[in-house]
Amino acid sequence: MTANLLEYDLDGLAAFCERLGEKRFRATQLFRWIHQKGAAQFDDMSDLAKSLREKLKTTAHIQAPTVLSQHISSDGTIKWLFDVGGGNAIETVFIPEDDRGTLCVSSQAGCAVGCRFCSTGHQGFSRNLTAGEIVGQLWFAEHFLRKHLGVSERVISNVVMMGMGEPLQNYQPLVQSLRVMLDDHGYGLSRRRVTVSTSGVVPMIDRLGQDCPVALAVSLHASNDALRDNLVPLNRKYPLAELLQACQRYLEFAPRDFITFEYCMLDGVNDTPAHAEELVRLVKAQSAKAWCKFNLIPFNPFPASGLKRSNHAVVQAFAKMLTDAGIVTTVRKTRGDDIDAACGQLAGDVQDRTSVDKRIAKQRTIMLTQEKLNHE
Ligand code: SF4
Repeated sequence: MTANLLEYDLDGLAAFCERLGEKRFRATQLFRWIHQKGAAQFDDMSDLAKSLREKLKTTAHIQAPTVLSQHISSDGTIKWLFDVGGGNAIETVFIPEDDRGTLCVSSQAGCAVGCRFCSTGHQGFSRNLTAGEIVGQLWFAEHFLRKHLGVSERVISNVVMMGMGEPLQNYQPLVQSLRVMLDDHGYGLSRRRVTVSTSGVVPMIDRLGQDCPVALAVSLHASNDALRDNLVPLNRKYPLAELLQACQRYLEFAPRDFITFEYCMLDGVNDTPAHAEELVRLVKAQSAKAWCKFNLIPFNPFPASGLKRSNHAVVQAFAKMLTDAGIVTTVRKTRGDDIDAACGQLAGDVQDRTSVDKRIAKQRTIMLTQEKLNHE
């Protein structure tokens, strides 16, 4: 079994090359070929010595998870379903906008947190992704899009760790992947253009601040503990007061940043004027300075949730109350609705492992049939 080089950050690749008797600058060259140029074949790496290419062919490979399906929305959003083995599939979404291209990346197959409004949470937890499976989503998407659009410059300018999974419950692979994304020899993304979204794993927020203080988004969704206990079960372990203090500590490592609070608007559950007032009090009690932003998310209903989307006027009135209190508030545009790629919809039609297995089997049959047709 050879090593998948997508599993390594630059230091890891340097250690791998050292074991082959190669100097660090060779690792840097190799890293650039993989991540900046999207090379998957060692023979394409023309400035590497032939002897090194031969060594690499017997010890290493470059392999992202296999694409099972691709759906393109009428608004240009693209959703990929990737096979990560053992009957598990993960989803990745590319969202093009005028001034940026954002990739929403998964960190786990399923999720153990079980938020009520999230279809991934209803699916349950299967396993953590490796660093190579996390980075592989970006590697595949960036180079697929460049080829597809016929461009050589970077297409993905922003990464949000908001796909399937709780990234801070898969910490080491997450941080290793973030390092590849930020590395100038890798994707060279700025720290503020890479966002980790968490449901509030307090000790890991502190570690991320020290290890790799990228932009932080917190899935808040409630203005008090009783409500949050019900919507985001992790709140029973790390209640609001602890979570908000962890956010303040995070800002010590990222002093010019804001924390973004994600707030999914649920009809009659968390969307009343009393909830907005409570949120304002909660935020202002932490600091008189402006230190956070709110992103209100229209809920994408799915049958098992038993929840409904707040109506548009209610969302606008809620946003106005926060804005009037001096809190920067945006309402998220829904993208990719027609391909189930909107927030909280990932794996929306996967209810359990059995159906994932069946779906993968079906996709494989479709792919094999297509392959057969191509060869006929
Ligand atoms: S919202 Fe995030 S943390 Fe909550 S269940 Fe969904 S994927 Fe997990």
